Amino acid sequence: MKKFNFGAGPSILPQEVIKATAEACLEFDNMGLSLMEISHRTKNFQAVIDEAIALVKELLKVPEGYSVLFLGGGASTQFCYVPFNLLEKKAAYLNTGVWARKAVKEAKLFGEVVEVASGAAANYTYIPKNYQIPADADYFHITTNNTIYGTELHEDIDSPVPVVADMSSDIFSRVIDVKKYGLIYGGAQKNLSMAGVTFVIVRDDLLGKVSRPLPTMIDYRTHISKGSMFNTPPVVPIFTCLQTLRWIKSQGGVPAMEKLAKERAELLYNEIDRNPFFRGTVTHKEDRSFMNICFVMADDKKELEDEFREFATARGMHGIKGHRDVGGFRASTYNAMPIEGVKALVETMQEFERLHS
Ligand SMILES: *Cc1c(COP(=O)(O)O)cnc(C)c1O
Repeated sequence: MKKFNFGAGPSILPQEVIKATAEACLEFDNMGLSLMEISHRTKNFQAVIDEAIALVKELLKVPEGYSVLFLGGGASTQFCYVPFNLLEKKAAYLNTGVWARKAVKEAKLFGEVVEVASGAAANYTYIPKNYQIPADADYFHITTNNTIYGTELHEDIDSPVPVVADMSSDIFSRVIDVKKYGLIYGGAQKNLSMAGVTFVIVRDDLLGKVSRPLPTMIDYRTHISKGSMFNTPPVVPIFTCLQTLRWIKSQGGVPAMEKLAKERAELLYNEIDRNPFFRGTVTHKEDRSFMNICFVMADDKKELEDEFREFATARGMHGIKGHRDVGGFRASTYNAMPIEGVKALVETMQEFERLHS
């Protein structure tokens, strides 16, 4: 049976991306060798990372003065890289969920952290607004898409200080104005690649300003100067990134991804709002994520939760169990999710409604 992968991460990738990676793992670039067993210093792999960096810059219209890096360690390691490299005295953070909180925890090791606002008291069911960003902060950190709670910042924000954004789960799904950011990072395993690589887009002139000594591997400038090849980079995940970036371009680029994301989200949210068996968990509709769509059984239908999960799973809906902090269901609708997948989920919800009415 055809399965639709609604898992939150690692998550769905275009079929052709998976195929190209599988083929390169058998034989890469007519070398008679696997991608897994060649040196990252071969010209064949250099061409891969060069094209991947060039495509990130092209697809996101990255302006002059920014560097694109592919590193190991996941987004969670960036929680510490960022303050290590940028926090001299004070940093501001917007607390919109578990990932934001984890970023705050690391930053506190390096200096004063101002939490400008927090959605914690409402279990992060909305994104706080009308907060003050201290003008003397070294940077302001946001999580643009809160993967666990299904909230998303749909617009670039204005800030008196450089914005640092964790875009792990919505990169390349929406047109962004990179010059409004000082640094963008994320684990690639949600919307870009398999697990194992982390992307960073950083404005070069923000670096080298902190007074603390930086370990070589933690200093972004090390990786910028060596084109992400100071040490062995995650070769296979970077190859997979390149395939996804080519795929995004072939589909019409980020504007096309954004259009599809809106279509998918609208279809599913409309059904959640219409169907008396379900209820969306995000209280402020303008904050609803286009990437992770969270819903629960309606209050008078709670006892049907396990039954619906089994019902949907039996119809090929993979990975819709909600995160334990929210419960219910989460349908992750990343770039590679075809609209047919969302239609199938909507039909499943309607079928369930008929069955019980
Ligand atoms: C998944 C996720 C992370 C953690 O990523 P790792 O690469 O596993 O460290 C951080 N932030 C957000 C928004 C995420 O969705």
